[in-house]
Amino acid sequence: MDIELLVRKNILQLEPYSSARDEFANTNANLIFLDANENPFNSRINRYPDPYQNELKTVLSKVNKVPVSQILLGNGSDEVLDLLFRAFCEPKIDNILTLPPTYGMYKVLANINEVENREVLLNSNFQPDINAIINNSDSNSKILFLCSPNNPTANLFSIKKINTLLEKFKGLVVIDEAYIDFSSSNSWLEHLPKHSNLVITQTFSKAYGMAGIRLGVCYASPKIIAILNKIKPPYNINTLTQDAALKFLKENIVFKEHIYLINKEKEVLSKALVDIHFVEKIYPSDANFILVKGDDATNRYHQPLCHNTLRFTIGTSMQTKQLIKALKQLK
Ligand SMILES: *Cc1c(COP(=O)(O)O)cnc(C)c1O
Repeated sequence: MDIELLVRKNILQLEPYSSARDEFANTNANLIFLDANENPFNSRINRYPDPYQNELKTVLSKVNKVPVSQILLGNGSDEVLDLLFRAFCEPKIDNILTLPPTYGMYKVLANINEVENREVLLNSNFQPDINAIINNSDSNSKILFLCSPNNPTANLFSIKKINTLLEKFKGLVVIDEAYIDFSSSNSWLEHLPKHSNLVITQTFSKAYGMAGIRLGVCYASPKIIAILNKIKPPYNINTLTQDAALKFLKENIVFKEHIYLINKEKEVLSKALVDIHFVEKIYPSDANFILVKGDDATNRYHQPLCHNTLRFTIGTSMQTKQLIKALKQLK
């Protein structure tokens, strides 16, 4: 696929902002920097951060076996998603496809960017409807958003269906893997070399337990990453965030244990929910939350296929006990 044909023309022609730190990413304390109007006092955070986060990306590259040239970092994955809209979707002309019920941010970003959001409902098993997706797309369909495991339904999309969509859809296919570390399945990262239109987003907000630092990761072909680098705010990942993420990646001893505990607690909550009188169905989950159908969870979720459902995030075992106690008290 020729990615350049998908990019907005003004972005292809854009001369990016050249920041003072483009050439000197490594602010060695022995060097003298008098080029960016920084304050010489207050060590380390007096300096602008590395605009391309090379140290952090090098570690991510080793951990995930993806070259640095195929990684872009965002101020949360929400910033990554917004950059994709701004790079590829011409306002009022292009469109994107989303598969409700799904993550609400795709639609909000489409509205902000004045891009038509074509909604193709998941089927009754919460899987993508391939024919409907292809029939609803045209030459202005720039991005298809696949959230797997999907929020709020908690399931993974079938590998075969995703492969078919990667072959048939003529724009970018974004796989949002915000919950992949809770799942039993592998990330799509190893498939990057095969598909020039594949974009994978991940986040430090969920399994890594670092929603507060705002760090999202985008993996794609070097061409797509180069385009996104051109339009991102120069210093979008601040120094404190880069430091915290590096510290986490170098000492990530507890994170696997936390995932284990959360998944164990997920089973505890699933079993306990069976005894709640108004619970009719507990959907299987590959994420850190459970979707439950009740006899009248009135107006909780305003998404299609989600009438009378509630979504519970998995907490600590004490929080589960309190949740169950509260649910049992409901008439
Ligand atoms: C929570 C979540 C994110 C995370 O967004 P951040 O901006 O990285 O915090 C992304 N996608 C989905 C589907 C989510 O549920």
